[in-house]
Amino acid sequence: MPSVYIETYGCQMNVSDTELMRGHLARSGYTATTEPGEADVILLNTCAIREHAEERIFGRLGALARHKVRRPHVQIGLAGCMAQHFRDRLLDRTPHLDFVVGPDAYRRLPALLSGDPFVDVRLDRDETYADLVPNRAAGVRAWITIMRGCDKFCTFCIVPYVRGRERSVLAEAVLAQVREVAEQGYREVVFLGQTVNAYRDGATDFGALLAAANAVDGITRLRFTSPHPSDMTESAIAAMATCEKVAPQLHLPVQSGSTAVLARMERGYSADVYLRLVDRLHAAVPGLALSTDIIVGFPGETEADFDATLALMRAVRFDSAFMFKYSRRDHTKAGKWDETVSEAEKARRLQAVIGLQEEISASINAGLVGADVEVLVEGPARRRAGWLAGKTPQFKTVVFPAKGATPGELVRVRVTDSTAHTLIAA
Ligand code: SAM
Ligand code: SF4
Repeated sequence: MPSVYIETYGCQMNVSDTELMRGHLARSGYTATTEPGEADVILLNTCAIREHAEERIFGRLGALARHKVRRPHVQIGLAGCMAQHFRDRLLDRTPHLDFVVGPDAYRRLPALLSGDPFVDVRLDRDETYADLVPNRAAGVRAWITIMRGCDKFCTFCIVPYVRGRERSVLAEAVLAQVREVAEQGYREVVFLGQTVNAYRDGATDFGALLAAANAVDGITRLRFTSPHPSDMTESAIAAMATCEKVAPQLHLPVQSGSTAVLARMERGYSADVYLRLVDRLHAAVPGLALSTDIIVGFPGETEADFDATLALMRAVRFDSAFMFKYSRRDHTKAGKWDETVSEAEKARRLQAVIGLQEEISASINAGLVGADVEVLVEGPARRRAGWLAGKTPQFKTVVFPAKGATPGELVRVRVTDSTAHTLIAA
């Protein structure tokens, strides 16, 4: 039987797509291997969100090409957003590459692999892969893609160009997957989508989908990522407030604290609207933990705009944040604008937001010392033998002495110490 090795880059959507490809290829006779040196097919599932991500992947492709020297039949391919971004230009530019497959072409992958070198980057308005069965990673958490694509066209972002139009998986198919993973023993479900809360299947909006999933036996916790602030409707907030399994945790990308920058990003909200949304969420969901994405150095971002981002971070006090230097992307609106912030200044601003966030994260976590927290046990702690690690409802990592607890179990532990990223418990 031929074997396939898949390496995944980028966001959780790609991790989920890799599980989908693994499942689909397994049903077509491919075994999975974790050794590229043994694989007949080597596939990189790629990210195009920033230039740096693409450079890394070109480097990795060069390194993997050595497997073809000894075993010339090996097929090397690129899947995902970068495949879609460069399309057929990739085969010209990269001699050892055999195939390029975009995010909407995975269904055809087994058939294509049996033919000549190929490029399949057709985007499809309807493809949701709802009928394909993913080979999910073992563990307590199952990721379920409920919508694909994005219609928002934020001016900095390549996603709508490489992942195509927004479309939702039918609610019945989503709920069938929730029931299936519950039966398989997963305890936590995370709904995934580029703008996950834009989900809609007829009368079933995102809030209604959460409520229906909440009723599935066997699942302990429900989460979702990433919601867009503009789609954070009353129905979604009400579902968070009333469904006991929906965890009090939200990754709500803000991007900037400056209303002028947000307008040029075409995010669809002002800093004030975002702050009011945060207030409404805190009022509805006690103990809510918030995290975010922030971009520094967007074209036209002045020192005052940047200060507004720092001010918003201080006002919201996010539990954690992913912070990025703006990276100019082809196809996008902002990609045609002059960059006004130098690399050095972007780096300075990035260090400043990272420093501030570390302070805030450390102070929030220090405030939890002495508290009892509920942990869904995931497995052994990475750095301490005999300790376990898991997550609180707020998605904070806790490490604690095992004392007979097992993965999948909910335990209560007392926090004795903390860092900006981890709670230590007894
Ligand atoms: N759909 C989500 C949203 O709207 O908030 C985010 C999805 S995107 C894959 C993840 C994050 O990458 C974004 O929130 C943004 O902070 C960052 N990002 C996207 N394009 C970027 C760019 N051109 N430069 C730097 N960061 C970027
Ligand atoms: Fe990109 Fe904006 Fe869509 Fe998020 S909502 S994926 S940032 S275009």
